[in-house]
Amino acid sequence: MPSSLHLYDTFTRSLRPFKALNEKEVGIYACGPTVYDFAHIGNLRTYLFEDGLRRVLEWNGYTVRFVMNITDVGHLTSDGDTGEDKMEKGAKRTGKSAWDIAEEYTQAFKKDLSDLRIEDPTLWCKATDHIAEQIEFIKDLEELGYVYQTADGLYFDTSRQPQYGELARLDKEGLEAGKRVEQGEKRHPTDFALWKFSPNGEKRQMEWNSPWGVGFPGWHIECSAMAQKYLGNLFDIHCGGEDHIPVHHTNEIAQTEARCGTRLANFWLHGHFLQINQSKMSKSTGAFLRLQTLKDEGYDPLAYRYLCLTAHYRSNLSFTWEALDAAQTALQRLRESVYRWRNALPSDAIDTQPDSASLTAFTHYLNDDLNFPQALAVLWGVVRNEDLSPAIRYATLKHIEPALGLELTTWTPPVIDIPENVAALAQARQAARAAKQWAESDRLRSEIETLGFKVEDVAGGTFNLKPVAS
Ligand code: AMP
Ligand code: ZN
Repeated sequence: MPSSLHLYDTFTRSLRPFKALNEKEVGIYACGPTVYDFAHIGNLRTYLFEDGLRRVLEWNGYTVRFVMNITDVGHLTSDGDTGEDKMEKGAKRTGKSAWDIAEEYTQAFKKDLSDLRIEDPTLWCKATDHIAEQIEFIKDLEELGYVYQTADGLYFDTSRQPQYGELARLDKEGLEAGKRVEQGEKRHPTDFALWKFSPNGEKRQMEWNSPWGVGFPGWHIECSAMAQKYLGNLFDIHCGGEDHIPVHHTNEIAQTEARCGTRLANFWLHGHFLQINQSKMSKSTGAFLRLQTLKDEGYDPLAYRYLCLTAHYRSNLSFTWEALDAAQTALQRLRESVYRWRNALPSDAIDTQPDSASLTAFTHYLNDDLNFPQALAVLWGVVRNEDLSPAIRYATLKHIEPALGLELTTWTPPVIDIPENVAALAQARQAARAAKQWAESDRLRSEIETLGFKVEDVAGGTFNLKPVAS
């Protein structure tokens, strides 16, 4: 089986063998959240895909420098450079300052990542901490002749770049023909804002001086400026959700090509959507769920991680509660199996080697463009393979665990307080069973259940007591 890493590159629309640009470290830039509201589980699917990418690179022995930005200014409600700044809108909605909500939702986002065991980026960077870099970038673009000014800001002239829109295979002529009135003073429909002026007579909460006037940066320039600062002119992989292809990533490429002559990243990877009721989960339609909602309903955040692993990142995933139930059940089965094996390990099991055939298959699927669903099937094959000793199965799962992030080998059953009367009834039932008094044993089981517990008989004449809800 060929097992070298291959990744699907949106730019070339092809599966390409991955080769790092520099032997030491793979550089990744991932577009982070716009922190005007909580992340929904659709957004989190994209961050789980990116975490999977990082883990697969680490699985292949690479060190990863993972940079993620926080968009805390400049992202407007419309991709056409009109509408409100999402941060200022969020401030109005909550009655708090734009600075305060940026901080609050950034912390909430980081909590979601940690609940999902998404590894922290090597470096976080905020748009508002890099205004000077963005202004320098725009000054260079201006000197190179890519910039023009209108009454409301500075725009990038996309007609200067014959290759503009290549990532998205944009139909530029079609767009030009279908020009709309909202284009305002923009010369071409695809031109985009680099710097917007604060509206006349209005003081924004977030605004800065610039050589062109007081205002704020456009959304795309932050990523070009910060990616260049922290990863250089050309780095290995840029990723994000598929909605970034036609506008945001297209414009990041345009800016960086204009300034540096490179297309920013060697590989472009995009995660497909989480859907709910057949359409994209989205804040603007209001059809969205937060991780906290799942937790409030009693789900383990890692059940959501498991659910996302069951679909390839380049296919849509439909969220249903039934699917989440199934994921939670599957995860729990895995954990309990691993826990049983671990407790029964013989003392010499420390040296047990993982099953090499399973590892080869697992690696093959990870390296086949992050095929986690098939990699999970390999994992289940190990769990069900009675020909492998529990010690080998345990060693294999422990070995593959870092690629999945499901915390299988560290899980322990929650400690449950069993009331004394319930424990006494369970003992009495055990005695009745030993004496083959089946009717009495069944009666005691029902009595225990009315007290909110269930008894599960385990091989070897012992039993477990669990709350009925679990
Ligand atoms: P935002 O905070 O809106 O900038 O989005 C953060 C990330 O989530 C971006 O990479 C988006 O492409 C991604 N995203 C938005 N909606 C979804 C969805 N329904 N499913 C998967 N990813 C999404
Ligand atoms: Zn970006």
